[in-house]
Order: sequence, then C-alpha cells, then structure tokens
Amino acid sequence: MIETQLLSGTAVASTVKEEVAERVSVLNGRGKSVGLATVLVGEDPASEVYVRNKRRTAEKLGIASIHHQLAADTPQSEVDDLIVRLNQDPAVDGILVQLPLPDGLDGERAVNLIDPAKDADGLHPTNLGKLILGQPGLTPCTPTGVMRILDHYGIGVSGKHAVVIGRSFLVGRPLAMLLNQKGTDATVTMAHSRTPDLAALSRTADIVVAAVGVAKLVGPDFVKPGATVIDVGINRTEDGLVGDADFEALQGIAGAITPVPKGVGPMTVAMLMSNTASAAEAAIT
Ligand code: NAP
Repeated sequence: MIETQLLSGTAVASTVKEEVAERVSVLNGRGKSVGLATVLVGEDPASEVYVRNKRRTAEKLGIASIHHQLAADTPQSEVDDLIVRLNQDPAVDGILVQLPLPDGLDGERAVNLIDPAKDADGLHPTNLGKLILGQPGLTPCTPTGVMRILDHYGIGVSGKHAVVIGRSFLVGRPLAMLLNQKGTDATVTMAHSRTPDLAALSRTADIVVAAVGVAKLVGPDFVKPGATVIDVGINRTEDGLVGDADFEALQGIAGAITPVPKGVGPMTVAMLMSNTASAAEAAIT
C-alpha cells in the first residue's frame, strides 16, 4: 500500500512569505520601499476576496498596498490611464489588474499596458515571451508556485514525464514551459479538452498536473501508482471548494498530492509577493 504524501501549499507559502519579508526588509534598509498596486474593476465577489487577500498579505510582509477600486462602468480609457500612471509611479513596484474585467472592458489590453518590469502577475506578453526564450523575467504566479512546491518537497522533475491537463495562458501553458526548461528537464505532454483517451495518457505520467476546472476529473483511472498529483483546480460545489483531482479516491494510489484548498492556491499569492519583491530589487540595481 502506498502512503500518499500531502504536499501542503500553505506550508511552502509560509516559507516563501518569510523569504519575501526578509527581502523587503533588506530593500528598506537600502532606502527602497516596496509597493504593490492592485486594480479592481466592478464588484465581483470572488475577485473582491482575492484582492483583499493579496492586499492583506502584502501589508503583512511590509509591502505597501496601493489599491484602486473602479466602478464596473468605468470606460476603458480611464483604466488605461490609471495603468499608465502606475507605470510611472516610483512608489509602485508591482501592478496587478484583477481579471476578469467586467463586460465591455478588455483585460488583455489592460495587462498589455502594464510595464513588463512591474508585471507582478508575470502575464505580460514580454514576460511570457522571455519564459519561452529561457530568459530571466517575472514568471506567472500559479505555475511558479507549482514549481516551488515540487522543489520544496524534493520531487525530482528531471527526466520525468509530466502530463499537464489544461493549456490556458494563465496556468497550463506556462507551467509546461517551466517544467521542460533547460536544467529542469521534464518531458511534458500538454493535454486539453480535445485530447483522446485522457485517462490512459495521464496514467503514463510521473507527475500529473490538473489545471482544468472540472471537479474531481482526475480519479484513480488517471494516476499511475506512486505518481505525483498537483491539483490547480478550484471548483465551487455544493460540498464546498474541491479540486480537479479526487483527493480522497487517490489516497493510497498517488505518491504525493496537493489538497484543495491549502494546496496551490496559497502559493499563487506567495509568488505574487515574491514577484513584487523581485521587481523592487530590479528597480534599484
Ligand atoms: P481555463 O482557461 O478555463 O482552461 C481550462 C483548460 O482545461 C483548457 O485548456 C481546456 O481545454 C481544458 N479542459 C476543460 N475541460 C476539460 C476536460 N474535460 N478534459 C481535459 N481538458 C479540459 O482555466 P484556467 O484559468 O487554466 O484554470 C483552471 C483551473 O485552475 C480552474 O479551476 C481555476 O479556478 C483554477 N485556478 C487556480 C489557481 C490557483 O491559484 N490555485 C489559479 C488559476 C486558476 P481547451 O483548451 O481545449 O478548451
């Protein structure tokens, strides 16, 4: 019987946040304050919770939280102007535009306007391009958080076969890039809604990453005994928050698994703070 190891994102996120607090204190000692600007447009309850959590975490780590709340009917030109102002503001090291924007506003345009050096989410085309080219840059928070969990728990990636289910620009695609970059060296298969016989493909993986948005999609038929399962999914169901993996059913089958909640989610926020610190460090070097 396999004893399935719990990969606690909460624990790894605590370590990352301690590191960030230390980096912020070093920056302060050099006369540099660190600021994260958050832009929330409209009143989507989930977005409000996410932004509040990010602001609270920033403040706990000594990062100034500079918040801009705009009405849902704000014209695109005002959103654009705000981002341009934040780009020019020396008190702002990182900028986060909470997506999705309300109907009628163009989130992609907003992200593209962010100065890539202040792109705390790591989603600007320049930073995604650098990721593909293997150049240093700010990398997307959730995929970077997944890599950090694997590293923290000593789960070797080199030479392993990773199946990443989901190909969004937010998670699946950049994570595939991080897993197969030179020096990390996983062999990666990207799967999606048109992949035939997904369960059989997934069973060939040493590492299965589920970034799909379908509750409990990844069950015992998807997982080779001993494989690592990283569950990125967040699905609101009648039973509360559940992931894309069937956490209970995979006990005794997976070698290790992240829970939902308290898995990848906390890492996303921690890596946002880390990116903000990196942007501030780059601003004074
Ligand atoms: P997304 O943009 O909707 O992408 C979902 C991907 O899953 C797509 O590539 C889609 O394929 C694929 N897919 C959908 N149904 C499938 C199926 N039945 N079988 C195989 N593939 C399927 O979602 P996302 O933004 O990447 O987010 C994915 C999940 O992660 C969501 O639950 C989201 O809430 C969660 N999330 C969590 C965090 C965190 O911090 N933990 C951060 C971001 C997202 P096609 O490309 O063919 O449509």
